[in-house]
Amino acid sequence: MPELALPAKCSICNQTFYGPRLALVGRPGNRQAAFLEKLAQHIQTAHKEVATAIAMGAAEYQGMFIMSQFATDDPELSRQLDIARWNVHQKTLPMRITDQMIADCVAQVLPELKTLASMADDAGLAANLTSLLQSMRNRMQEPDKYILTGEVQEARSVS
Ligand SMILES: [Zn+2]
Repeated sequence: MPELALPAKCSICNQTFYGPRLALVGRPGNRQAAFLEKLAQHIQTAHKEVATAIAMGAAEYQGMFIMSQFATDDPELSRQLDIARWNVHQKTLPMRITDQMIADCVAQVLPELKTLASMADDAGLAANLTSLLQSMRNRMQEPDKYILTGEVQEARSVS
């Protein structure tokens, strides 16, 4: 299994890095871990400001989890928790849905919806609108993208 890891290119300085050629026997995840360590070392040494920002983001993420273990009626503390959650959420969104994307989607389904409306097909309209909203939810929340079972991670196709 002398397969080469695909290179990774630093988006800050354009330097290209290559992972180890061989997986360590009996430890299939070690090659990837070694490569991630190499990439982390590069950020630590070559891009100290970015490393600091990453550490601050990690602390913010940890803080969100700690705060989520508590319930409070204090509106300011609740607001701080929600800001922390929102901040992490904004950084991990899989995609941004623009107004134009929504307009394009509406333009695509409008003819069928008009037909269903002209036929007074309430069940068809409801099914179409439900499917449209479910599709948008799934693109944003990715509820079934991965099935995590132990060390196996499989990507599901998301429609
Ligand atoms: Zn770099």
